[in-house]
Amino acid sequence: MMDRNLQKDDFTRTIKFIPPLYKQRYQFIKDLVMKYKPKKVADLGCADCTLLWMLKFCKCIEVLAGLDIRENVMKEKMHRLSPLPGDYLQPSERSLTVSLHHGSVAHKDPCMLGFDLVTCIELIEHLEATELEMFPEVVFGFMAPSMVVISTPNSEFNPLLPGVTLFRHSDHKFEWDRAQFESWAIHAATHYDYTVEFTGLGIPPPGTEDVGFCTQIGVFMRNHPKNGETVSSEKHTKHAYKTVFKAVYPSLKDEKYLQNAVVNEVIFGAEIIKRRLLGNFKSERKKHNETKLKFQPFKCCMRCSTNLSLAETEKCAADRSTEPFVDGNKVCIPLAKIFLIPKVNQLCGTFEKLNKLIAGKVALNSDGSAVIVTVENENEEQEY
Ligand code: SAM
Repeated sequence: MMDRNLQKDDFTRTIKFIPPLYKQRYQFIKDLVMKYKPKKVADLGCADCTLLWMLKFCKCIEVLAGLDIRENVMKEKMHRLSPLPGDYLQPSERSLTVSLHHGSVAHKDPCMLGFDLVTCIELIEHLEATELEMFPEVVFGFMAPSMVVISTPNSEFNPLLPGVTLFRHSDHKFEWDRAQFESWAIHAATHYDYTVEFTGLGIPPPGTEDVGFCTQIGVFMRNHPKNGETVSSEKHTKHAYKTVFKAVYPSLKDEKYLQNAVVNEVIFGAEIIKRRLLGNFKSERKKHNETKLKFQPFKCCMRCSTNLSLAETEKCAADRSTEPFVDGNKVCIPLAKIFLIPKVNQLCGTFEKLNKLIAGKVALNSDGSAVIVTVENENEEQEY
């Protein structure tokens, strides 16, 4: 073991990065996402969508898009990008839409507008000369996200990789040394008004530090906010990509899922309150050695009958308005009490919203001020 990230096997003369370099590249992007919290992220040359799959767990992201020229590779594991049953059972606070597009980074498509971060991991070395020529205009000129990350092999590292003669992969059209990549990147950055910083992953073994990182990375930041007029005129660009996948995740931002969540919380909360109330009756009954459970309207505040100050009277009135009570074989739980349940309060925000969301979905008393829960077998011995 030579370095935390590098292992050299003297027998096979291979260099092994730990974790593997492709995972380090994905982690690098994930770390940037955690730091800058972009809402919309596009991965160009997304291949089997592994990076997109990792990014879907980042809570800040609301839109994820992938683009690749090889439709079948993208489709292989795209099911991983679909919502899981748990996503429906407990919809997230954030909205998330994931889409995959088949097409080339050499073409412009309005579906790639408005992104905060665009990643191009080990992509540019796969581009033909004509595609590479179009690439800066498409990514920096047309898409113009706030941030672009481009990674590519550093050819200076190649002599340390056994078996690599010309390029690291048969589909690579070129591999650049640091000076070549930096000159191309600085030219693109200057032309489209970005600032670029260079870094990399895969530290060389001791004694060979001068070759630089195995993977070289350029992180581009747009210098100025994008002009609104340009954005709207670019929206009229014709579609060049084919959408092959789209998933809209259930979210509490969607009224349908919010209503479902609120109704569930209200029913669950009402049931707990009912059980607590009936539990009190049961202990009262034991105290008085009664065999049958006799329901009485709940006496909210015994101090009401004594001489109270104005503030105490007001508090007492407020208490009474949130006090559950028994009416025949029903327990009435004032909505004011339901609204105090932390999860209900957090989901609804306002009392009016609570009223609106549960209307027609939860049994209410005649004036709509209380949730009604029926008590079954009220005269039977029950364990609460
Ligand atoms: N970014 C992925 C990763 O890091 O694991 C995959 C990198 S893979 C080495 C390069 C990907 O770029 C391939 O999936 C390839 O199909 C795609 N690609 C090549 N030319 C492209 C083009 N003109 N437009 C979009 N994608 C392209």
